[in-house]
Amino acid sequence: MTRTIKEEKIIEFINVTKYFGAFKVLDNINFHVKKSEIIVICGPSGSGKSTLIRCINKLEKIQEGKILFHGQNIREIKSIEIRKKIGMVFQHFNLFPHLTVRENITLPLIKVQKKPKKEAEILAEETLARVKLSDQINKYPSELSGGQKQRVAIARVLAMKPEVMLFDEPTSALDPEMVNEVLDVMKSLTEEDITILCVTHEMGFAREVADRIIFMDAGKIVENTDVNTFFSHTDNPRVKEFLSKIM
Ligand code: ADP
Ligand code: MG
Repeated sequence: MTRTIKEEKIIEFINVTKYFGAFKVLDNINFHVKKSEIIVICGPSGSGKSTLIRCINKLEKIQEGKILFHGQNIREIKSIEIRKKIGMVFQHFNLFPHLTVRENITLPLIKVQKKPKKEAEILAEETLARVKLSDQINKYPSELSGGQKQRVAIARVLAMKPEVMLFDEPTSALDPEMVNEVLDVMKSLTEEDITILCVTHEMGFAREVADRIIFMDAGKIVENTDVNTFFSHTDNPRVKEFLSKIM
């Protein structure tokens, strides 16, 4: 399957502002994501990247503005319904340590999606094959490497067949030799009709697969542009400084 970006806006931020106490962490954010787009979000630590994507699946509340999913204000959509359609992969995997790989994947399918156990197990096998971990299905997370754990976390989200996947620095907790196995799995997802928002500083990955790059600084989007412009033609001093530090 090849990916085609649709004109339809799947996610839209309109004048979104969020505070932690008196601290304005997101400052009047406006942007939209088209269906099947791949967007990389980058920017300095503390600029609000995690908070921004956590707002999309209602892990954080906003105080001003609105976030639309398929044109509907997410305030009117139950968190559980949002999370069936918008999956999230975290920096620290967030696997259940007391469950096997198989159970980590089937549990949300059974509990959240109310799927029969047998169907959940078939989905677990299918998605583990996609992340090339079929042979690890009966292991516990503690028996896996960091890269394998993150691939299980990705499989767990994929098994839910989400429309949107959010990644929050999925490779930044990994030893360097494990980064590529996770990026390769993520690249394989970009062949499909899935919408991806990924916070990452892996600029090689961004250049290869992203359609657009959003650069944040101090709670604001300071650049939102296509990949070529971002890397080659930006005249934004903050972007230039950031790129000079990490590339
Ligand atoms: P990034 O992911 O870009 O590093 P974050 O979204 O994690 O940034 O955080 C942005 C700012 O908000 C930081 O200054 C951080 O300390 C602050 N922050 C994040 N989460 C909380 C929280 N739960 N309570 C208070 N402040 C927070
Ligand atoms: Mg973060």
